[in-house]
Parts: sequence; structure tokens; C-alpha cells
Amino acid sequence: MKRIGVLTSGGDSPGMNAAVRAVVREAIYQELEVYGIFHGYSGLISGHIEKMELGSVGDIIHRGGTMLYSARCEEFKTLEGQKKGVEQLKKFGIEGLVVIGGDGSYRGAQKLTEHGFPTITLPGTIDNDIPGTDFTIGFDTALNTVIDAIDKIRDTATSHERTYVIEVMGRNAGDIALWSGLAGGAESILIPEEDFQMDHIVKRLTRGHDRGKKHSIIVVAEGVGSGVDIAAQVQEATGYETRVTVLGHIQRGGSPTAFDRVLASRLGAKAVRMLITGEKGKAVGIQKNELVAHKIDEVLSQRHKIDNDMYQLSKELSI
Ligand code: ADP
Repeated sequence: MKRIGVLTSGGDSPGMNAAVRAVVREAIYQELEVYGIFHGYSGLISGHIEKMELGSVGDIIHRGGTMLYSARCEEFKTLEGQKKGVEQLKKFGIEGLVVIGGDGSYRGAQKLTEHGFPTITLPGTIDNDIPGTDFTIGFDTALNTVIDAIDKIRDTATSHERTYVIEVMGRNAGDIALWSGLAGGAESILIPEEDFQMDHIVKRLTRGHDRGKKHSIIVVAEGVGSGVDIAAQVQEATGYETRVTVLGHIQRGGSPTAFDRVLASRLGAKAVRMLITGEKGKAVGIQKNELVAHKIDEVLSQRHKIDNDMYQLSKELSI
């Protein structure tokens, strides 16, 4: 292998830049040429591809977003689009590809693998919803953004003795809600993986209220439904003034935490080393602090699970 490519695709996440930097620098360290593919699979199809040098990835390790830009590309879901992508890779003499993105991007990478093109994926998403890895790049940063918001809202909630519903991201996964709810001391955490009963939430809130609690915080994962609707139901059922904050896209931005930068650096370098040793169709991840690699199609066939012990703990600590 002499020349590889790297692209970022789907929803951006903080730490993608650190991953791109790691791929580029490790490739050059290993005496490979490396090409950046801009705008995800869309740039792959159109041939928006440029040679990267050591300096191309200077001063990006601490920046959110992705310097390669990201895109959603419907055309790449078609056989024709995929064939155009493979042709571009061949045209540029690229022999292996690193794809950084979420599960949709993994599906694209699996297609490239099926077309015989050596591809390795890195989990780049704030949602932490990729099986086969304990953490995805961007999750820790998003979590810290949410915690910062919860701490601030808590001040207002206490001053005004209100209940606050905070809607967080995560798509169909409850990880951001669960971790931020636990770290932020939320009274209730609503996640899509677990059914919730409004009367349990109400019981919890009234019990806290009766023992003199000044405020309550309920964290709702977007996969459960609208935080606005939940807040209305809580207010109706308890009679307590209930406000809602939908955190939205601030959770996707910002400078990556040290954890995400280190994770991105380790995974990016591993992906390059795997391409050099001839591995293909693999998804790189971290489990129990060890770097691992699973087949992309196996990762895609599994369902993401939350940590049930942690969910139980969050209930025990918020009595
Ligand atoms: P994420 O990677 O964050 O989950 P998306 O689900 O939007 O984001 O996927 C990103 C891109 O991956 C899509 O716009 C498309 O180009 C590509 N992709 C998704 N699913 C497939 C598929 N089944 N086959 C080929 N490419 C796909």
C-alpha cells in the first residue's frame, strides 16, 4: 500500500479533526501518501480529493467540526454512485480508505468493502451508538457540553424553585442522556431504551418536593420524544412550574476534550496500520481501553445497548 485516502461523513462530531490529523500524520510517518476527500461520499463521487501534507493538518487538533467538511449524500446509496466513488479512488491511485463517521457512513464503507475496496472505519459521532466500541469520538465532548448546561440551568432552577426538562441529543440512543443525567444529578432520566411511566416520575418529583427540594431536573433523550411535550405532561401531573430547554446543536460543536483527542489519535493511527497490514472491511474501536477491530458488517448487524448497571445506578442515586 502506497497511497491512502481519508474522509469524514454524516453528522460531524468534535474530535473528527484530531482523527483526520492522526490518519494523515501516521500515514506520512509510515511513508505513505495520503489524500483528503472533501465533503464525505459526495466529494468522493465528484473527485474533490487533495493531497495532504504534514502541515495540512496543523493547528486542527483542538478544533471542533471537520476540516474535510462533511455531507450527506443520497447518490452514494445507489450502486451507480458507489461505482463512481470506486472509480475516483482508482483514478487518484488510492489503495485504501479511512472513513470517519456514524452508522450511516459505516453502511457506505461496507458497500465499498463489498466492491473490493479496502476500507477501515472510525466511530465519529456524539451519540455513542456504534456497537463494538465503548466510546465514539465526540461523545465525551458532547457530554461535557451538556453537563455545563445542566449546571447552569440548575442555578436557575434552584433560584426559582422550578422543574426543568432538558432535552439532549443522541438520536435513538440514550447514552448522552444517561451519562449527563448521572453526572448532572438529574432526578429522572428518560431514554429510548427503557419505558417510562409518568406516575413514577411524578412520585419522584413530589417526594423530593415534600422533603424540601428546591428544584428538579429531568433529562430527556431526543429519541424518547419532544421535551416540550414531556414538560407539559409533568406540569399537568404535578402542578409544579416546569420549563424546558432543548440543547440542540450546541452539543455537536466545540473544542474536543482531551479524552476525545486521545481517542481519535489512537484510533486514527490504528486504522492506518491496519490498512498497511492488508486488513479491510473493519471498524476500529476501543473496548476496556484496548484498541479493537470488528468486521463492519458485524458491527452493523448488532444493536447498540446502554449500560444497564449505570441506568440502575442513576435511579438509585436520585431517590
Ligand atoms: P451518520 O454517518 O452520521 O450516521 P448518515 O446516516 O447521514 O450519517 O450517513 C452518512 C452518509 O453515508 C449518507 O449520506 C450516505 O452518503 C452514506 N450512506 C448511508 N447509508 C448508506 C447505504 N445503505 N449505502 C451506501 N451509503 C450509505
